[in-house]
Amino acid sequence: MSVFHVTRTCRNGWSSLLYGIGMCLIAWVSNLADTPVQSRPTTPQQPADLKHIGGRWYLRAGVRPVYLYRDGQRFVDLFSYHMSDSNKDGTDEVRVSHDQKFLIVESQGFPNHPTANFPNSGNPNTIRVQDFRFRFPLEPKFNTQVTSVPMGPIGMALNGVVFFNPFEMGGMNAVEGYSEVWLDSCCGHPEQRGVYHYHKYPSCVKSPFQDDGQQHSPIIGFAFDGFPVHGPYDAVKMLAKDVKGKFALDDCNGHTDAERGYHYHVTPGRFPYIIGGYAGIVETSNNRGLARAGTGAIRNNASGVSRIGEAVQSVKPATGTRGQSLSVRFELNPSGLRNGLPAGDPDWVQIGPFEAQKVSRKGNIITASIQIPADAAVGIPYDCHIEFKTPRAGQDVTVIKANEVFRVLP
Ligand SMILES: [Zn+2]
Ligand SMILES: [Zn+2]
Repeated sequence: MSVFHVTRTCRNGWSSLLYGIGMCLIAWVSNLADTPVQSRPTTPQQPADLKHIGGRWYLRAGVRPVYLYRDGQRFVDLFSYHMSDSNKDGTDEVRVSHDQKFLIVESQGFPNHPTANFPNSGNPNTIRVQDFRFRFPLEPKFNTQVTSVPMGPIGMALNGVVFFNPFEMGGMNAVEGYSEVWLDSCCGHPEQRGVYHYHKYPSCVKSPFQDDGQQHSPIIGFAFDGFPVHGPYDAVKMLAKDVKGKFALDDCNGHTDAERGYHYHVTPGRFPYIIGGYAGIVETSNNRGLARAGTGAIRNNASGVSRIGEAVQSVKPATGTRGQSLSVRFELNPSGLRNGLPAGDPDWVQIGPFEAQKVSRKGNIITASIQIPADAAVGIPYDCHIEFKTPRAGQDVTVIKANEVFRVLP
């Protein structure tokens, strides 16, 4: 917390300039003392074709302007990969522009990775194309207190799909405990208006750099205060959620380091999973709930035991390697579903972003083969889901799932 407070003083030091300079000097000196000489960051040379537009944002002009973000020592083209029109409706999923204060992202909020078939027995809604227009402060500013994350969109992944807080409509934890809701194997589902959203680490959102657990995770999205959200790793084989001491994550799931400034991390398996509050001044035009959001980080209210996952007894093997194609065996548990399991072969099996091929079933055993891409994220716990198109109980598709069943090894 101390780094967080000192940095905040540095940012808001205009009102008491002398005090601010003093504190900044103390912070600078203590950073020097803490940082090993060989890893002390230097500001990278700005490539000649980039124009600085504010904060850590840069623009490469051209027929199709490219927005780059300085993430530590790298200038990263965050959005080009996600701009294509993957739903083939004539409009790019993500369109980026800027004004003097904001990076402006227009988004269809439409996932560009495999999803479950919706509606299904776990969710009655349909995924619909949205018409979002989000404004992210180019230069995030710390607030004097934390702003609570409201219901509805609280930030955006690089693919234009929105982050929600960990709670569902009734205010209960959507990710853990008896109130856990059915999220597909890419960790999303649609709400009543068809907004597909993530309540936890969206393990299928590709970032421009692969995440192999060998360094600080790349950026996967932004909060509405303009601070970036990174993947789960803070350093080599070290998850940000496990960092202790001075650099431990705060209640918002953020921390400050010398290379990146303040930034958030996703924390798989640990509340608040994405962000727990806004450390920065939030841009209220992004969600009506933000103007009346209270202060303070949200608190976990998970209780009891989730029944999600009871229909899948086991998944074997639980690991695979990059580039490998392997056969995965799912053992089902008929008593894990209220009306028992549907008959016949499943129509769809997915582990994280991997769509299974050659799906077959013998009794309670399902076998499916997956091909792991060479650049798959390493060490991330992937969920799986299984779909049966057999009509039951008024639903077209019966779905089951299991959480954190598979990891990719390097
Ligand atoms: Zn939800
Ligand atoms: Zn970090």
